[in-house]
Amino acid sequence: MTISQNDPVWHVKFYGVRGSTPVCDPGFQRFGGNTTCIYVDLLTNDRSKLIGIIDAGTGIRKLGKEIMKGTIPKTDHIMLAMTHFHWDHIQGLPFFDPAYEPDTKIAIFSPHHQMQKDELRGIFERHMQEDYFPVQLSAMGSEIRFFTEEEYSSYLSFERSIEFTHRMHNHPGGACSYRLSANGKSLVVCTDLEHGEELDPEVVAFCKDADLLIHDAQYTDEELPSHRGWGHSSYSQAIACAEQAGAKQLVLTHHDPNHDDDFLEHMETQCKLRFPRCVMAREGMEIMV
Ligand SMILES: [Zn+2]
Ligand SMILES: [Zn+2]
Repeated sequence: MTISQNDPVWHVKFYGVRGSTPVCDPGFQRFGGNTTCIYVDLLTNDRSKLIGIIDAGTGIRKLGKEIMKGTIPKTDHIMLAMTHFHWDHIQGLPFFDPAYEPDTKIAIFSPHHQMQKDELRGIFERHMQEDYFPVQLSAMGSEIRFFTEEEYSSYLSFERSIEFTHRMHNHPGGACSYRLSANGKSLVVCTDLEHGEELDPEVVAFCKDADLLIHDAQYTDEELPSHRGWGHSSYSQAIACAEQAGAKQLVLTHHDPNHDDDFLEHMETQCKLRFPRCVMAREGMEIMV
């Protein structure tokens, strides 16, 4: 496939958009109740080498089923990049069907605080130890490898056309933003991020001119003051970040488990008045960049 300048470069699909905890109540079905999981596919000549996933919240369960069915094309490797390890970002992994397939190679990556590979493996081993889950990580069946910052660039060296950068931002325990660029199109994922009283200028710089910015937006302006230190942003902050960074399109995500569909639809209308090219993330939503 040859792509021209105007063709989309990235295919992004949302499998989990809820923050903090999954919700399955009737009023939460239109936006979805699964926790963070974002699928990213590169639509260029280099595709079909790699499935890219950001975070393994409960949404990854459905993504796994689509990979097994072939709805998402099966590739040589599955690359899972973690923003951080809070429950809502890791708890889907034990239900990710490809992880039980012996011919599947999964690479789990985190640049989190320059942790060592064994520390990274330990995080996933502990949450699947037998007190918590019947199948241990080592018994899942697929080849699961762990990559820290240093090892990662050599692992991805075959994927030269992608520029992949990251930085730690403010969140309890820290979390990581990711920026992917290829063929002049860039997307940024910035979730579980608390700016503080003012927008974090380094976050704004990281999001500069993004074609697609996926930004934490858990709280309203009214909710934010009583949630200082909880590690999240408001709708207004996400929009201000997109405006200051010159982002072309904004997706608001990590919806609060107390915000039902009617609430989110109302907020989406309000947000569009200020930043027309923004949308609330919905499970199953696909965006071509
Ligand atoms: Zn979270
Ligand atoms: Zn978190």
